[in-house]
Amino acid sequence: MIIDLRSDTVTKPSPGMLQAMFDAKVGDDVFVEDPTVNQLETLCANMFGMEAAIFCPSGTMTNQIAIKCHTQPGDEVVCEKLSHIYQYEGGGIAFNAGCSVRLIDGDRGRVTARQVTESVNNKADVHKAQTTLVSLENTGNRGGGSCYDFEEFNKIKQVCAQQDLALHLDGARIFNAIVAKKENPLHYGQVFNSISVCLSKGLGAPVGSVLLGKKAFIAKARRIRKVFGGGMRQAGYLAAAGIYALSNNINRLANDHAHALAIGEALAKKDFALELLPVETNIVICNIGGRYTAASLAAEFKRHDILTIAIAPTQIRLVLHLDVTPAMVEKVIAVVEGL
Ligand SMILES: *Cc1c(COP(=O)(O)O)cnc(C)c1O
Repeated sequence: MIIDLRSDTVTKPSPGMLQAMFDAKVGDDVFVEDPTVNQLETLCANMFGMEAAIFCPSGTMTNQIAIKCHTQPGDEVVCEKLSHIYQYEGGGIAFNAGCSVRLIDGDRGRVTARQVTESVNNKADVHKAQTTLVSLENTGNRGGGSCYDFEEFNKIKQVCAQQDLALHLDGARIFNAIVAKKENPLHYGQVFNSISVCLSKGLGAPVGSVLLGKKAFIAKARRIRKVFGGGMRQAGYLAAAGIYALSNNINRLANDHAHALAIGEALAKKDFALELLPVETNIVICNIGGRYTAASLAAEFKRHDILTIAIAPTQIRLVLHLDVTPAMVEKVIAVVEGL
């Protein structure tokens, strides 16, 4: 038995999800005629109190479409230095949108309203790129599943409103934050101009992300999705998995959070665990030193059939998800205690 903690993207559809996919009614989504895709888009938009939504193949695509829609070539995008849109989307901000990036040195992936204010270029200065978009990430992946304090979102929103900036949220794991902080998704819809939500992470769908925004924004996004090659046809089979995930797999994220905390506590006791990032959701990131490097620790885990990732020479990451059972968590803890 392999315990795969490399990512929450490794989950496989459950029998119930597969049945929902099998039973889906489909049509051609490029003609906006797939009833199941339309249902998923409406469901997701309503959950966040946003006007409209568009289903896409990946979270990278929903982020990149949003950045392209909010900007003109030559503009500048403000984001945190560890953010997925900067670190893990292949330079897409430059490639797809022709924009430059202003990186903020934040706290575990999070930025403050004050840092945003300091990162906005003076619009009257012709030397400067025009800042048009601020992009935040919640939870923060490289921040170890860190969650924002919602009050900071409100403050950042104020800055964006004053400076006429769009505000995007990379909410790949937004439901982890909502469950952990007991938040109301409708509040997110009031703050952000666009939100990207992944169905293929901890929610357990095999494929897909949804981008949310106003009607006119989503109409533009539909055009960009086509240009990016993301117009799918009978995508209702995939959307059905997303509907199933949103209907069944949100509240159970709390189990993943409890599992992550238990594993984090076991790790923190080890002499080679130099610093455990606070475990707020389903991600455990630990700085490693002494007897192990991150790579040699990952290799040691692998000898016990536990897959992890050394995300940096000194950092190991373990991600909990719905295919990890309590028995598997017990085994991981036992292995950690024996190291
Ligand atoms: C996984 C992830 C994405 C999107 O990834 P895809 O693999 O393209 O779906 C975006 N942002 C964050 C923070 C992520 O963790």
